[in-house]
Amino acid sequence: MSNSAELNELHWLLAIVQSIDVGVVVLDRDYRVEVWNTFMENRSGLHPDKARGVTFFTLFPEVDEDWFRRKVESVMTLGTPSFTIWEQRPYLLRFKNYQPITGLEDFMYQNTTLLPLKGTSGSIDQVCLIIYDVTDVAVNRRQLQAANAELQRLSSTDRLTGLYNRGHWEEMLRLEYARHRRYDSQAALVMFDIDHFKAINDSYGHQAGDGVIQQVADLIRENLRDSDVAGRYGGEEFVVLLPDTDKQGALIFAERLRQAVELREIRHEQHRIRFTISLGVADLSVPTSSHAQLIEWADSGLYASKAGGRNRVTLYQH
Ligand code: GH3
Ligand code: MG
Ligand code: MG
Repeated sequence: MSNSAELNELHWLLAIVQSIDVGVVVLDRDYRVEVWNTFMENRSGLHPDKARGVTFFTLFPEVDEDWFRRKVESVMTLGTPSFTIWEQRPYLLRFKNYQPITGLEDFMYQNTTLLPLKGTSGSIDQVCLIIYDVTDVAVNRRQLQAANAELQRLSSTDRLTGLYNRGHWEEMLRLEYARHRRYDSQAALVMFDIDHFKAINDSYGHQAGDGVIQQVADLIRENLRDSDVAGRYGGEEFVVLLPDTDKQGALIFAERLRQAVELREIRHEQHRIRFTISLGVADLSVPTSSHAQLIEWADSGLYASKAGGRNRVTLYQH
């Protein structure tokens, strides 16, 4: 190639590096900037004249210096490129994100590449840092993940109460039962139903009834532990699974809940409404054939509480 052809090619290459929509920075062995393209100028607001010769870490104090030095040293020593992706590290350089659609994030997500640059002598005296703006991809992915989590939450919870719906709760019971079979862990179930709920609906209206159901759900939340699993089993029927709890513990919980409900009063329009619940308790201390058996037992206890006069707790008797 003739000299002028080579010069021409170099000229074009420089023009390309300047206008390409990724950040290009060349650093020498002392981390001083040698090349700074237009992307870098636009995003940092720093003219190449101001960046050239300045140490990288002075320009970007947000960069973890130890980590970056280790990375550059290994690229120079091994002579092979190195990559980071936004999932590992959302960004290397804290640039503002100016894309209006993206909303949430105000920084630019980045993938980066570090390339070893071999000089004419064959030794590696520079590295080239390439910065890709991947904000679009990252924000889309993040929003998709958030939407999926929300969908998952919605499909597992009951709208009125925020408790688990029956399907999801039964799934949790199945898992707990499997744990019990495998590790012989203990678990108890409290099942309950609001007393004379039809009368509440009939006297004060369906909305008042809904208010009572929500109030009961709040009282459950106020009384359970983090590990307990509460669900709305039917219209005004509830279940609470108590892992690692035996019947004594479950009876204490059930009685505390019964009293809390009895004491609570809700206001609806000009009315003050009081209500009670009837509860059944069963545990896994006796051999069972399936998780459904625990539900049947607790339900029998509940039925006995109703038959015995309501507003009470009954332990299922084998
Ligand atoms: P008991 O003491 O024997 O439980 O009497 P009860 O009146 O509570 O009897 P039952 O369980 O048969 O009545 C439940 C009523 O709950 C029937 C139904 O109309 C009402 N219900 C079910 N789901 C809802 C709901 O989401 N909101 C309201 N307001 N009422 C509901
Ligand atoms: Mg009922
Ligand atoms: Mg009822």
